Amino acid sequence: MNPFQAPTGTRDVLDPESARFSLLIERFSKRVQQAGYGLVISPMFEDPGVFNRSIGEDSEVVTKEMYEFEDKSGRRLALRPEGTASVVRAFVQHRPQIPWKAWYATPAFRYERPQAGRYRQHHQVGVEALGSDDPDLDVETIALLDGYLRDVGLRSLDLRINSMGDANCRPGYESVLAGFLETNADALCKEHQESWRKNPLRVLDCKRSECVDLRVMAPRFRDSLCDACTTHFDRVLLGLDALGIVYERDDFLVRGFDYYTRTTFEVASSVLDSAQNAVGGGGRYDGLTELLGGPATPGIGFASGIERVLLAGEAEGLFDGQESLIVVFVVDLTGGEQARDLTHLMREAGIASDRAFDDRSLKAQLRQADRSGATIALIVGADEVERDVITIKVLRGARAHHQEQTPREALIGRVKELLS
Ligand code: AMP
Repeated sequence: MNPFQAPTGTRDVLDPESARFSLLIERFSKRVQQAGYGLVISPMFEDPGVFNRSIGEDSEVVTKEMYEFEDKSGRRLALRPEGTASVVRAFVQHRPQIPWKAWYATPAFRYERPQAGRYRQHHQVGVEALGSDDPDLDVETIALLDGYLRDVGLRSLDLRINSMGDANCRPGYESVLAGFLETNADALCKEHQESWRKNPLRVLDCKRSECVDLRVMAPRFRDSLCDACTTHFDRVLLGLDALGIVYERDDFLVRGFDYYTRTTFEVASSVLDSAQNAVGGGGRYDGLTELLGGPATPGIGFASGIERVLLAGEAEGLFDGQESLIVVFVVDLTGGEQARDLTHLMREAGIASDRAFDDRSLKAQLRQADRSGATIALIVGADEVERDVITIKVLRGARAHHQEQTPREALIGRVKELLS
C-alpha cells in the first residue's frame, strides 16, 4: 500500500473525468457571462465569523461540518463550506457598483460522512447578484441554473421553489410552526426533540423519516406570507411560467442556511439517490450584507455541485462515446524529430495533436494513436522523409481506413479537409 492516499472524503479527478469537469465550468461561465455576470475569485479561507454569522451559528454546516484551524500566528480561520458568504463579504469590503453580478467556481469543504455524491471537498459553480430585490432577478438566476443544467444535457430534473418570507412575516410563521412542533414534539426525530426550539425552521429541512412524516401536516409558509412577499413570489412564478420553466411549489423548502429570505429553490436529479440528489440550489438573502457589516443590500444567488452534475450526467448516459480532444496523432519511425516538428505544426494551426515518445515501435505507436482517440494518424518513415511526403491514415469516422500520401506543404489543408 502507498504511504499516502488522498484524505478521506476527497478524491483526485483525472482525465477523462477532469475533462468533463472543466467542460462544465466552461459551459457555466459561458451561460452566465452572456447574462452579465463577471468572475470573482476570493480566498478559500476566511475569518470563521464570515460563515458563523451568515450561515448561522447553530446550522449543521457551522456546528458539525466546518473545517476550522489556527494558522501559525494563532489566527483562527475556516475553509469555505460554500461560496455565497465569501462573495458577499467581498462585496461588503469593496462596494462595487450595483447591481453587482458575479460568478465563481470553487472547492467547498465540509466535514460530512463521505458517500457517493457527498465529499469533504466538493466543487461548486455559482452566481450572486446584489443590489436589487426585483423578482425578475429571481427569475433570471433560476433561468440561469435551469439553462446551465440543460446545456450540460441533463433531462431528469425537478425544480422546487418556495418563499420563506422576510423579516416582516417570517417571525409570525416561526411562531405558528413552533406551536405546531410543541404539540407534536414526540413525533420528531431524536435530535430535533431536543433542539427544535433553537430554530424551528431546521425541522423542515431534516432528512430523518420522523421529521419528514410530520412535516406534511405542518403549517405552510404561504399562509403566513405578508402582502409584499406574496406579490414578490407571484411575480417570480409568473416569470417562470413566461419563460416556460417547469417548477413545483414546495411549501417546506427552507434549505440549511439562515441567510435565506423570500425565494428559495432547489433542483434535484431524479436519476440520483434521494439522499444526495440536489444538483443545485439557492435563494434570496436580503439581510445578508448587513449581517456581514455592510449597508442593507438585497441579493440572490445559487450554487450547483460539479460532482453531482457529473454523477447525474453519467446516470443519464451523457458521456458515453464522448470524443477525445486529440484529433491527430503523429507516428514517427525516424527517431522523433518528425513527431516533434509535426505536432508543433499541427498545434500552431489549431489542430489538437499528440505523439509517442522514446522512439517506440510502429505497433506501440499505433496502439497509442488508437488509445488517444485521434481521428487521423500521420505516419512518417525514412521513405516519406526522402520523398517529402506524409502518410495520412484515417483511424475512425466516416472515412476510417482511408490512407494516402500528401506532400508536406499541403498537409495542413488536407488534414483540415479530411476532418471536416
Ligand atoms: P448547498 O450550498 O448545500 O446548497 O450546496 C450547493 C450544491 O453543492 C448542492 O446542490 C450539491 O449539488 C452540492 N453539494 C453540497 N454538498 C456536497 C457534498 N458534500 N459533496 C458533493 N456535492 C455537494
